Amino acid sequence: MILELKDICKDYIQGKMIVPVLKDVMFSMNEGEYVAIMGPSGSGKTTLMNIVGCLDKLTSGSFFLDGQDMSKCTDNQMSDIRLQKIGFVFQNFQLMPKESALENVALPLTYAGIPKKERKERAMEALSRVGLADRVNFKPTQLSGGQKQRVAIARAIVNRPKILLADEPTGALDSKSGEQVMELFQSLNDEGVSILMITHAPDIAEYAQRVVEIRDGILKEREAQTDR
Ligand code: ADP
Ligand code: MG
Repeated sequence: MILELKDICKDYIQGKMIVPVLKDVMFSMNEGEYVAIMGPSGSGKTTLMNIVGCLDKLTSGSFFLDGQDMSKCTDNQMSDIRLQKIGFVFQNFQLMPKESALENVALPLTYAGIPKKERKERAMEALSRVGLADRVNFKPTQLSGGQKQRVAIARAIVNRPKILLADEPTGALDSKSGEQVMELFQSLNDEGVSILMITHAPDIAEYAQRVVEIRDGILKEREAQTDR
């Protein structure tokens, strides 16, 4: 099991008010699975992703990542695990605007303490993997949206993570670029990377093996579907 969430609750404190956002979420994912999360805006998708990505702490419940109990981890241990096991892809790419594609992709390796020469080699390799070997020295402003997202995917996989977390990865892309991103996800998944992806778009969710729905902080497996 790559992910195991049991009775997860997450409240936000707003002044004196407690705002429950995730309500007793039960969710698990096998290693190598590809799961899509769908739900309306404000339903708690990003909040859930931030917890799974060790970017935020839960209020109650338990959360195991790759068999490890995350509620027992210190902040330092959490950031190590994040670095080693998780790759992130965001709707708006979140690239460093002044750095080249190569430097953007190499950044997580800097945090991981990898020596410079190896950083460059591995960043090159990851950029080739996403079909951008000829764009390594381009800055984000010199790239199309689809290319920016592919740089972001190269950055997400450069540490060879076990799981890829993607929050609306095609949300800012035209349909052709979105399709390319989905093809890339598919081939990463074929290589054994687990993928958890948030999306609004039913045609994007169809790429996943399994779809779960979240509404007002409550998560449900989607009913088994007949063929489209
Ligand atoms: P989604 O990604 O599904 O659109 P979010 O997880 O971003 O939804 O937000 C879910 C709910 O939690 C929203 O009602 C939002 O207002 C609230 N929320 C998100 N982040 C915070 C925060 N830092 N403080 C207070 N409320 C928040
Ligand atoms: Mg969101």
